[in-house]
Parts: sequence; structure tokens; C-alpha cells
Amino acid sequence: MASSGSREARRGRLAGLALALWAAAGAGEAMAQTQERADLSISQRRRMVEDQIRRRGVEAPEVLGAMSRVPRHLFVPEENRADAYADQALPIGAGQTISQPYIVGLMTSLLAIDKGSRVLEIGTGSGYQAAVLGELASEVYTIEILAPLADRARKSLADLGYANVHVRTGDGYRGWPDRAPFDAILVTAAPPTIPDPLIAQLKVGGHMVLPLGQGVQDLLVLTKRPDGGFDRRSVLPVRFVPMTGEVREPPAPPNPPRR
Ligand code: SAH
Repeated sequence: MASSGSREARRGRLAGLALALWAAAGAGEAMAQTQERADLSISQRRRMVEDQIRRRGVEAPEVLGAMSRVPRHLFVPEENRADAYADQALPIGAGQTISQPYIVGLMTSLLAIDKGSRVLEIGTGSGYQAAVLGELASEVYTIEILAPLADRARKSLADLGYANVHVRTGDGYRGWPDRAPFDAILVTAAPPTIPDPLIAQLKVGGHMVLPLGQGVQDLLVLTKRPDGGFDRRSVLPVRFVPMTGEVREPPAPPNPPRR
């Protein structure tokens, strides 16, 4: 019958409306929770920048600004997220670590880069340092020797929209010749000796920042001279994971062995 039919239709519409309202309320709640988490991470980042970085003497406003923007917790494995803004290095899998925020801030400021800079990083790890560089420079080229880490970093950077950060899987010892020369080079794994191919890819006047040595390393700033050599300044003792690959291979014997 027409009347009961229309009543049923109305009831159906009301049920539909209720369902829509319920769904909207649920979505609203989820959005509010996401917003709350975002607000929390913003306030944690502000505190990290103030207490751990600025207070220890890194003052470049661009660097502090970049580190207040990059969501460090999204580069840290789920189980370590609660500590993402703590004053410490954290494991990122495969026996590797993401550096302490202060060290990231310090090394970034030592590079003395600007909006026009093209930067090379060796040791992508989580991709966090590369994201900080991506906030400050025009192009960032970063190389990671462990494929699972490179893949994850590539994804994290893409999800956050860092289109100017380029990740390559491989040994960074020989740099990225077809993108050289670079305004600055950052090495975030410790080599036992200074990799010559990287010096060759640095522009005159540019800085290369690296931890050098075994065990406790020396954080160095090398500045390329017009004659192709470099000046060297030691900043502080640090502890990074070792750089692996070609830099550890024994040099080839001067003469091929005779048969
Ligand atoms: N910058 C990283 C942390 C680096 S940990 C971050 O922000 O998370 C050092 C990284 O260097 C590790 O992931 C390690 O696998 C990588 N590594 C070691 N030797 C390397 C080499 N020869 N070339 C490229 N990456 C290397």
C-alpha cells in the first residue's frame, strides 16, 4: 500500500541518516585523535629543538626551523615511537641507528647550506637526516648500502612529500658522480680513512662533515681548497656506526702477482 510504503521509505531514510551521523561522529573522533597526536608531536618537537639543540649552541634559525617541522617519529620504528623526541640515538633495524637530535642539528649546521644548495649524504638510514636536509637545500642525494633501509626511507620520504630527496641503494664510497659536484657532503657512518672520491665531488669552498676513525670517532669539518686539497677542523668526539663496503677493503697490491 502506498501509505505504509512511504512510511517504510521514511524509516529507511531515517535509519540511513542515523547511520551517516554515526559514521561522521566516528570519523570526527578519529580525526580528533589524529589531530591530538599531531599536536603532541609538534609540542614534543618544539621542546626537543629548544632543550636539546638551541640550548647546546646550535643557533641557525633555518636548522632549528627545519627540525621543528620534520616529524621524526615517522622515521622511527613503531616500537620506538614513544622515544622519538628523546635526547638519544635510536635503533632503526638492521643493527643501524638514527642519530641523537642534537648531532643531527649540529652536523646540519656545520654544512652551512642554503636554499640553493645541492647536498650529498652517505648513510640514509631512516631518511630522517635527509628530510632535514630536504627542508633546507634545493636537492638532496642520499645513498644507503642496506636495501631494506633504503626502501623504507624512500617510502617515508615519499609519503611526506620530499620530492627533492633522492635515495640510491648502494655503497656511497664513490659518491654520486653524475650528480656531482656538491655544495656540501654529509657522511653519517664512520669510515676509517677519508674517502678520496667524496672530496673530488665537493665544490671548492664547500664543507664535508664526517665522523672519522674507529670506536669513538672525531667529528670533522673538511673545507675544500682551490688546489683540490682540504682544510680540516675537529669538532667533537662522536660515536657512529661504521661505514662498510669498499672503504674497508685492503688496497690492491702495487703490482699484480706473477703467475
Ligand atoms: N642518517 C641516518 C642515520 C645513519 S646510520 C638517519 O638519519 O637515520 C648510518 C647508515 O649508514 C646505516 O644505515 C648504514 O647502513 C649506512 N652505511 C654504512 N656504510 C655505508 C656505505 N658504504 N654506503 C652507504 N651507506 C652506508
